[in-house]
Amino acid sequence: MAIHPDDYHLSESERNNISVTTKSLFSDLFPLPRSITGDAVRESLSILQKISSFSLQEIPSGTQVFDWIIPPEWNIKDAYILDSSGNKILDFKENTLHLVSYSIPFNKTVSFQELNDHLYTLPDMPEAIPYRTSYYKKDWGFCLKHSQYLKLDRKAKYNVVIDAEFREAGSLTYGEITLPGKKGGKEYIISTYICHPSLANDNLSGPILWIQLLNILKNIPHQHTYRFIIVPETIGALAYLSINQKTVKNITGGLVLTTNAGPGPFGFKETYLGTHILDRTIKQTFSETGIPAVRYPFDINGSDERQFSAPGFRIPMATITKSKYYEYKEYHTSLDNLDFITAENLVDVLQLYLLVLEKLERNYTYTNMFPYGEPQLGRRGLYPQTGGSIQQQAVDLDTDHKKRQYKTADYTMKGNRLDAIRWLLFKSDGNTSLLDIAEQTTISFHELYETAQLLVEQGLIRKESEP
Ligand code: ZN
Repeated sequence: MAIHPDDYHLSESERNNISVTTKSLFSDLFPLPRSITGDAVRESLSILQKISSFSLQEIPSGTQVFDWIIPPEWNIKDAYILDSSGNKILDFKENTLHLVSYSIPFNKTVSFQELNDHLYTLPDMPEAIPYRTSYYKKDWGFCLKHSQYLKLDRKAKYNVVIDAEFREAGSLTYGEITLPGKKGGKEYIISTYICHPSLANDNLSGPILWIQLLNILKNIPHQHTYRFIIVPETIGALAYLSINQKTVKNITGGLVLTTNAGPGPFGFKETYLGTHILDRTIKQTFSETGIPAVRYPFDINGSDERQFSAPGFRIPMATITKSKYYEYKEYHTSLDNLDFITAENLVDVLQLYLLVLEKLERNYTYTNMFPYGEPQLGRRGLYPQTGGSIQQQAVDLDTDHKKRQYKTADYTMKGNRLDAIRWLLFKSDGNTSLLDIAEQTTISFHELYETAQLLVEQGLIRKESEP
């Protein structure tokens, strides 16, 4: 993909291209019976590798990772239930959610009563199939629509077939790649999970966003180092942390990519600190784009931030969402399907993350070289040639963020640009960063960054420190 070498802003044609590949990734990946281990995970990772390369790690089953043990690898070939006339009443091949993930092999004719102990439905959502797993308890089960469950013959016998294999000598697979930054740069981790079967927003949207972000960031020069990891949730994050226990101490913070393509509101889950640079850059990004977002303060329920931010690591992790997990009724059901999400929603979140990364990358601090009053801007071509009135906008502090409109750089030296010049000169005391200035004014971070380049060229300010 051709990306401008220094661009965190997607053009219309870049957005369209990414939407096209996003759509085909959704349809290729959706049907695969992923779980925390197994060939469907490997196949999913190899589909993602076609967009952008990364390496694979295999952690043998039985390996101790902190308080956990990597389970035997699980592979599923087929699973169905036949009624007494031999009709398939449930078929895992029609929807991977029909089978409880990590079900043991089983082939037996059972009474309805015995079967009933292994059936899961959602009485409140009779047309949805629930998602259930049994990773660490040896059991089997099927999930089905409650409407279908009500029609089952209570007196009949059923033939249950689960053609599954547990490989004691198997392994857990995850993907990773590190994009090295420059000397003195910080280190961030960008993580997602790949263990859910046919569920679109939670969680297929995470891996697809992850690969699209990786593909773009590979082509942008950056100061910071970015570790991209794609793991099965919980056990995979623990495996990664266990293997990289020493080096993860250097990580400044990270992002967990999840639930980012649904029809619900934009949102962001804060880091456990709430005031980290990631919290600030995300808030500022929503503020200046004018996109309303739901703020979710850190909560101990959630995704892999539970592992990364645990006392032994304390890596602050944040997430930008579109229909956040737990917050929509289709969550973990068959209604979280390809009709629930859109590629365009995913690309919107991708753009927001890019604007966050731009802030992490370009958060310079400057010193004003003409601190004794204002320098003469007109002489330097930095003042509107035809003067007019400059109107100060009234700012209502409470609704301030709603009024802010993100603008791309305006080179006409009017309005916004002149304000940016004046604010930069006023605030550049060697201690105030671009992000500080963006937070304290109504000028977008990008406008400040572009303007700062101009002022450096003119010798009006000097770069004081790196992000
Ligand atoms: Zn989930």
